[in-house]
Amino acid sequence: VLRVTDLVKHFPMRKGPLRRTVGVLKAVDGVSLELRAGETLGVVGESGCGKSTLARMLTAHERPTSGEVDLLGRPLHKLRGAELRRARRRVQLIFQDPSGSLNPRMTVAASVREPFDVNPDLAPRGERDRRVRELLELVGLGPGHAGRYPHQLSGGQRQRVGIARALALRPEVLVCDEPVSALDVSVQAQIVNLLERLRAELGLAYVFIAHDLGVVSHLADRVAVMYLGRVVETGPQERVYGHAAHPYTQALHAAAP
Ligand code: ATP
Ligand code: MG
Repeated sequence: VLRVTDLVKHFPMRKGPLRRTVGVLKAVDGVSLELRAGETLGVVGESGCGKSTLARMLTAHERPTSGEVDLLGRPLHKLRGAELRRARRRVQLIFQDPSGSLNPRMTVAASVREPFDVNPDLAPRGERDRRVRELLELVGLGPGHAGRYPHQLSGGQRQRVGIARALALRPEVLVCDEPVSALDVSVQAQIVNLLERLRAELGLAYVFIAHDLGVVSHLADRVAVMYLGRVVETGPQERVYGHAAHPYTQALHAAAP
């Protein structure tokens, strides 16, 4: 459902008081990956290796310097305007810190309703409130939460709202960028269980990003290991960890609990 080929993202590297460009930072440096329908691809790698930059290119939040992003047969990197807006609904980004994607002045219900108002074709006006209630229920938020503001919710509850908002658009793919890293361990398990349940109920495919193996090894069918902007290893978990070829993967494996 999602295929990236030779994806590259360079940022200008600036230095000094005049912020002169002194070179390029290769945040993502030639990544090719494929995500099949209903599959979970884990992406692991240390801080700064380019995971979030990759995630933003997969969801068309950022334009690649070069390379291709093919989403359900459409070239996401080439689309513009209304066509792009329609295509990007099908692949949604779940952020590490859901507060970043929630408007502090909007109640839970208003946040989940917003996608319906922005995309009127999703549901007729008269059905939107019902859809919002269904979505909140789906992510485990009862009617008592609907009127709350983000600051009146726990981190895990905010993440549930973020997930409900994403699901409002009926995506086929969720790109989860360290969705539980900011949460307590017990809450992490709840959110992972939620994502696992949604995957089964809705037939979603996931790109699941993490900096360590814990959560990924639980969810992923296949794993890609990133190092300095490149995928250095990819394959089924047993192979990637059992016969790690790259020294970084070996180190990662050695550090796993
Ligand atoms: P973390 O695990 O800490 O979230 P990451 O793997 O997600 O790290 P990225 O956020 O993708 O890493 O960053 C990769 C590199 O690109 C870093 O060196 C970062 O400083 C740089 N970078 C990311 N976004 C930008 C930007 N908008 N402008 C300039 N440099 C950027
Ligand atoms: Mg990141």
